[in-house]
Amino acid sequence: MNNKTYIPDEFIADVASYIPAHLTIDDFIASCRSGLRRAVRVNTLKMSQQAFEHEAAKLNWQIEPIPWCAQGYWLTRPADEEASLPIGNTAQHLSGCIYVQEASSMLPPMALATSLTPGDRVLDMAAAPGSKTSQLAALMENQGVLVANELSSSRLKTLAANLKRMGVANCALSHFDGQVFGDYMYESFDHILLDAPCSGEGTVRKDPDALKNWSLASNQDIAEVQKTLIHSAFMALKPGGTLVYSTCTLTPLENQQICDHLLNAFPGDVEVISLHDLFPEADRAATEQGYLHVWPQIYDSEGFFIAKFKKTGSVENPQQKTKKGQFPFSPCSRKELQTFETSIRQQFGIASLPGQLMSRDKELWLFPQNMDALAEKIKYSRIGIKVATTHKNGVKLEHEFATCLGHLATNNVFALDPTQAKAYFQGQDIRLDATGPAQGEVILTLCDAPVGLGKWQKGKIKNKLPRDLVLNGQLITWV
Ligand code: SAM
Repeated sequence: MNNKTYIPDEFIADVASYIPAHLTIDDFIASCRSGLRRAVRVNTLKMSQQAFEHEAAKLNWQIEPIPWCAQGYWLTRPADEEASLPIGNTAQHLSGCIYVQEASSMLPPMALATSLTPGDRVLDMAAAPGSKTSQLAALMENQGVLVANELSSSRLKTLAANLKRMGVANCALSHFDGQVFGDYMYESFDHILLDAPCSGEGTVRKDPDALKNWSLASNQDIAEVQKTLIHSAFMALKPGGTLVYSTCTLTPLENQQICDHLLNAFPGDVEVISLHDLFPEADRAATEQGYLHVWPQIYDSEGFFIAKFKKTGSVENPQQKTKKGQFPFSPCSRKELQTFETSIRQQFGIASLPGQLMSRDKELWLFPQNMDALAEKIKYSRIGIKVATTHKNGVKLEHEFATCLGHLATNNVFALDPTQAKAYFQGQDIRLDATGPAQGEVILTLCDAPVGLGKWQKGKIKNKLPRDLVLNGQLITWV
């Protein structure tokens, strides 16, 4: 119980005005003041659920499946490990095999997942720090294309770093106010997730100060932004496509009323897809309209709201816009392609890569499949992954080549033990007992997942971890 959690009286009075009859305000407050169970999601781009369960048993981690997300688990680690090793420094986290993500935050991608088909074009309109983007990428099995947009520059950097760690290769990142999509990317996406900026009323269990600046007026201001964003999302959605709208707040002002706004703006062209049977017991959070209003006391989680819609008809947008300026990428030349393919075949036994290789100056990028139709509509911060840079004697592979495609390698793969992994993430070279016959580059793995590149040298593997990813000064204690 956390008595320091700040819960203003005006907030309680507001909640009392809309809490459903079968729930009590006392239970709600008690729940807000109680700690949150830690939840993690297994990143199936890097580790299977079975492998995670096996590993958890070995480490004496207690796990409990989250009923709405097959890849999600509530996790309790032994007390001594919890005290000495931050979860972010575990091998499972550093290797991108797990993502620490609140259980209810796994719901919006799961609501969208039931409509996904291979090759889909998906937009995540408010994406940072990327928990749902990386979940969607895993659900899409790194195929199709996932445009992840974020307004804040600092949060965009965190998003990019998280996607690298998680081995996401099918993403294009953009840096806009989400309201541009309806005009610039009119009816372009099969599915859209709008995990909207919100007042965060559902997050007090994680952040006791979450309600410090709470006011009805600020809820109303945020609701205006949400209306603009949902309108833009609906315009950017193809007819027949699906839109998931979610927030981590409770007030109907930012939830049901935003959904009403959409339904009223496009009568006849939008319908609600009920989520009441998304998972066993979803009914406990379902509203009569078919939305999920997850109160913290229902599943012992954070508060959340999720709604799903289908666009049933095309809607006119007289304000469509086209981007000006040149597209800086072009398909790789035959020579570039040959040099790159020969290099990865000889060194790693990789015969082919998914997606399309493109070049910009001396850089080689692997674009996601189905990017063509979207590539020139807006300016992206990055598209796909940078796999290599060419130079006169060949190619220099990039870190992301290893983290996103390293699982395809059959030669020159080296599994780090815990001591070596600690050295690697601290930017040090990896000492070897014997010099192997190997030459050139090597893909390093941890928990059987690729984590980066090294270079074979006499008695050691030279560390090629980008300097900005080195865990400077952080004490990593390995279990
Ligand atoms: N979907 C993210 C995840 O699961 O990790 C969380 C998204 S958070 C609820 C909302 C995000 O929207 C914030 O990162 C915020 O910076 C961003 N944002 C705020 N206003 C925006 C706008 N007008 N357009 C796009 N993004 C916006």
